Amino acid sequence: MEKMDMLSMTLEEWGSIIKQWKQPSFRAKQIFDWLHNKHITEIDDMTNIPKDLREKLKQYGDISGVKQIKKLISNIDSTTKYLFGIQNNLLIESVLMRYDYGNTVCISTQAGCRMGCRFCASTLDGVERNLTAGEMLSQIYEIQKDVGQRISGVVLMGSGEPLDNYDNVIRFIHLLNHEKGLHLGQRHITLSTCGIVDKIYDLLSENLQITLAVSLHASNDNIRQSIMPIAKKYSMEQICNVCKQYSDKTKRRITFEYALIKGVNDSESCAMELSEKLHDMLCHVNLIPVNDVKERNYSKSNEKQIQHFAQILQKRGIETTIRRKLGSDIDAACGQLRRSYQKDNVIL
Ligand code: SAH
Repeated sequence: MEKMDMLSMTLEEWGSIIKQWKQPSFRAKQIFDWLHNKHITEIDDMTNIPKDLREKLKQYGDISGVKQIKKLISNIDSTTKYLFGIQNNLLIESVLMRYDYGNTVCISTQAGCRMGCRFCASTLDGVERNLTAGEMLSQIYEIQKDVGQRISGVVLMGSGEPLDNYDNVIRFIHLLNHEKGLHLGQRHITLSTCGIVDKIYDLLSENLQITLAVSLHASNDNIRQSIMPIAKKYSMEQICNVCKQYSDKTKRRITFEYALIKGVNDSESCAMELSEKLHDMLCHVNLIPVNDVKERNYSKSNEKQIQHFAQILQKRGIETTIRRKLGSDIDAACGQLRRSYQKDNVIL
């Protein structure tokens, strides 16, 4: 019998289980509160739940959260990287970023990734499995407990392609946003995708207010196809069209991520071409000097080139920022800690 994945269940689902078990209906709220506010990891910690109901929960359910294996704190900016273990002896990473305005956590949505972007370490071994909604929440809960401070922003930018794990990600967003849970405003949640256009249309129909970030990384389809396999399926025109609809509907600015790779996508003509494509969009470009991944022979553009690229976009009226590099001393690039740990350690 497959056990209930307790951390992934909605309050309504708890309501129907509790009813089925002929328990008083307020038990559903109590259990939800233990899981999503008190962030317990053992069923026996639910001290206001009678013992016989706890036994039943243990028989039929599991709290499959993440377990901290390693933590690295940057000496430069106190960015903290967490390595977590999940069921099936797999590893995932999350990052805590501390800003003046609050704590943001970057979570993984899959163990590994199957999108194959050439510059990314997460995808080198393909995807191992999708994370459940509970495993995504648990990354945030464990970090919140660890630092003893509220997490006020969440970005889905760790390992994995969130729209390749669509149903679990949507469930996760609703649970994270739930008024009886962490109650994080949808506007404080950012979903980053490599651009699976069909799934962005699905997302559009969910009527959410989350921020959409799209990893563009190129100014035309040829360059994009040479670094991102997904670009063979969807053109930049298709991406721009769906993004326009997303911002029309939500009135939210789209973030376009653009990792600058020396000699690949960082020329002046790339900047001009990009500004042509984006000039009529409600958007913002986030330039990221590409992180070196030693398995890949791409390197970052030099500082002057990055500034020049940003200025061209800005002059043409496109809001552009250069991502502040956080945690550069702790292997903060996607998937790097997990890979180095996997190579050096036998996981028990
Ligand atoms: N799959 C999603 C989210 C995870 S990746 C996506 O593609 O958006 C999060 C971001 O990190 C993406 O913009 C991704 O392209 C970028 N990224 C991956 N490897 C990188 C590297 N070596 N240097 C800089 N950015 C990288």
